Order: sequence, then structure tokens, then C-alpha cells
Amino acid sequence: MAIPKPLCQCRVCREAREKGVPYARAGPSAFLQDINLLIDTPAEIIELLNRSPIRRIDYLILTHLDPDHVEGFRVVEQITLDFRTWRAYPKKQICLLLPGQLNERVREIRSQYGPVIDFYQESGFVRLVLFQDNIQIGKVRITAIPVDRGSQVSFVYVFEKSGRKVVYAPCDIKPFPEHRNEVQQADLLVIQPGIFETGLKHRFNYPVDHISRTTLYTFEQTLELATRIQAKKVVFVHLEEYWNRSYDDYCALELDNPMIRFAYDGMQLTV
Ligand SMILES: [Zn+2]
Ligand SMILES: [Zn+2]
Repeated sequence: MAIPKPLCQCRVCREAREKGVPYARAGPSAFLQDINLLIDTPAEIIELLNRSPIRRIDYLILTHLDPDHVEGFRVVEQITLDFRTWRAYPKKQICLLLPGQLNERVREIRSQYGPVIDFYQESGFVRLVLFQDNIQIGKVRITAIPVDRGSQVSFVYVFEKSGRKVVYAPCDIKPFPEHRNEVQQADLLVIQPGIFETGLKHRFNYPVDHISRTTLYTFEQTLELATRIQAKKVVFVHLEEYWNRSYDDYCALELDNPMIRFAYDGMQLTV
């Protein structure tokens, strides 16, 4: 959920409406500058890009196909379209790197004309490159680790270059594939914080059998997970409005633990 949540008058949303970024938050997305790779396309991706210093996107990768990560998929058309031909400017074409397991399911993202991926390919907006397990793009090695979630597939991505490693796991990561070598000892782990159990809106307490516990770890469990896989730094993303925490509240949490940071829109990191 974006912050401010539309029409919401809670403390966090009112402050975000008044002060904007970093109190306001768009959906989950990231950009790997080394290879001009965009990761995920939330509904607000156009605004995010226009507020950023990014000038070029060569690659797009999707962690999974839930709406909060693909609602903005049409950004590929908006970036590449040449209105004179209704085709892409060839030099602006974006390469969609897709794990083979998502090849069927990506066709379920549709408009009234059918699967959008077909239209985007026919128009030259995207070039689809399927891969299994890993792919090398320039000097960056990308490993796609599936999270076993029954019928849904989501991926943890590991990016490696010159002996440095980033593990990107923003959403739907339970059960986290911590048995995999690739996720160990990351220089940077980007992960969702999971459930905060205190200080929630409506003084809500998550029951032991709440549905969110099937998809989310708790914040404490996530910290323990990061310790077990020996992540050197942790950045939390996908920060929900209903955690009832403002930018200042997250800054206060950072003071307790020098290993962690909470992301905000436009945050830049060097690994
Ligand atoms: Zn609110
Ligand atoms: Zn998500």
C-alpha cells in the first residue's frame, strides 16, 4: 500500500500528505545502476522514475506477478513508444528478463486485447529473454531463487559483481530459501521487515492464526533470519501503511541497530 493511503486521515498518512517524501512512500521497486536494471513496476513507477536521476532502462526483471509489483508494467510502453509508428524507438527497447517459471503466468497480465506481454513484444516495447536459475548481464550475475509458495511463484534475486553480493527479497519470501548458498553472507540484504506486532493501528494484535502469518515473518524473525544468513547490512523495504510507523519512527529503530536501514523513495546505496 502506498503512503498516504488514499483518503486516510491517520497520523502517518496526514504527515506524509503534508511533508511528502521521505514520509510518503510509493510501491516497491529498485534500480541497479550497473546494468540499468529496473526491478518491479508498482503502480507509481512513472512518478518514481521522474523523481529519480535515472536516464535509461535497459533491463526489467520482476520478483513476482502480484499487483503491487506489476500494476505499472505499462511503463515499458510509456518509455519506449514512438507515436509516429506506434512502435518502440528501437534504441529504447527494454529487455525483460523473466525466469522460465513465470513464462506462462506473465500472460495472465491482460488488457481487453489479451496478454499485454504479447502486445509489448509485437510493438517492440520489450524483448523477452527467458532464463533458468541464473543469467549473466555484463559483469553482473543474477541468480533467481524460487520461493516455494505452492501455486504462486516468487523469486529472491541475488546480484553479484566483483566479489560483492546483493540479495533482493522484497515480498512473498516465506519460506525464505535460507538453505541456498547464494543468499549467505550478502554485503547487502534488501528484505521486507515482516509483521510489526506492536503499535499497530486500532491497537490490533495479530492472532496466531492470522493469514498474514502465512506470508510474512515477524520483524524479530526477519532480524534473526538476517543474522543466520550473515547479511552484513540490511535494508528494509515494502514498508506498509498499516505498520503505523512514520519515517521518523523508522529512523529511531535504526539507532538501535547499526546493521539496519529502512528504505525511503529515492534512497541511493553503494555496495
Ligand atoms: Zn493512514
Ligand atoms: Zn509486494
